[in-house]
Amino acid sequence: MVYVYSYFIYCAYFILDWVVVLITELLYRLRKEEFLKHKREANVYWVSDLIKCPIKREFEIKYPEIALTNIYSPYYILGDLIHKGLESIVSENLGAQVEVEKSRDVQLSNGKKVVVKGRIDCIITTEEGEKVGIEIKSARADIGIPQQHHIDQVKIYNWLFDLSRSILIYVTYNRVTEYEITERASMEEVIYRIEDRRAPRYPWECNYCIYSILCPYKITK
Ligand code: SF4
Repeated sequence: MVYVYSYFIYCAYFILDWVVVLITELLYRLRKEEFLKHKREANVYWVSDLIKCPIKREFEIKYPEIALTNIYSPYYILGDLIHKGLESIVSENLGAQVEVEKSRDVQLSNGKKVVVKGRIDCIITTEEGEKVGIEIKSARADIGIPQQHHIDQVKIYNWLFDLSRSILIYVTYNRVTEYEITERASMEEVIYRIEDRRAPRYPWECNYCIYSILCPYKITK
């Protein structure tokens, strides 16, 4: 009898271990496939590049294997799941298009041509035919929201997708709330952001930057 009981305990542990490994491996695999799908190109600027340190973008092109380690980050996995959940709710209930991608050609002040690409979380079309963007943000806390670089990102989406307004929604541990952003970036602002070499772009960026392990511009104070 003791032998049979021990055998069942052993089987239960084995099955549990198998399930845990199966699901985490699936998450890692899907995240890796998604990462590898979006190979960085020198003449392509994603909207997210225009609101962050320009040196970080250069490191992402040069050392993609360092950024790849983010696929294992529990914080980013949680953010990803919140995005996917909310996107499917908005899609099922409001008929939204999700993860919509668009690009625009931009000529810089030195004549060089580059491409600005963006992928907004959702776009809904109202009964009046108005297209409204939705950008989802998840965070541990609601301190300082809406954050300026998130507002800037949505303003650039309004320019890229030709939207009259967008909703910036935050899902945090202590608040779920949303902000309407009606401002739209201009072509001049987009060019300025591509050419701006300030590094970092915001004083707090180095604290969260995966390239701080090798960056000579890291702010340490
Ligand atoms: S460590 Fe700071 S300056 Fe260096 S790439 Fe990262 S954000 Fe930019």
